[in-house]
Amino acid sequence: MTETAFCYCCRVHHNKTQMRLFPTRQGYRWRCLRSIEAAASSRQERDAFGQKQSEINRETALRAAESGLLLRQAQPFSL
Ligand SMILES: [Zn+2]
Repeated sequence: MTETAFCYCCRVHHNKTQMRLFPTRQGYRWRCLRSIEAAASSRQERDAFGQKQSEINRETALRAAESGLLLRQAQPFSL
């Protein structure tokens, strides 16, 4: 007979060999390795996305500043 435990993440029972006790705000709960790994990799992707996004924001701000400068040069009398 295989031992199973309720996975609080997937809300189904998995084989305990595929699971680890995971610290939550309610204490240690069983959670499957697959969901732990998925969460860890999605966090890495989010971090990478966040870094890329802040780079894009910085470039956009720079371009806006540059184009604002060009615009002012092109229209010296506009306020
Ligand atoms: Zn699970």
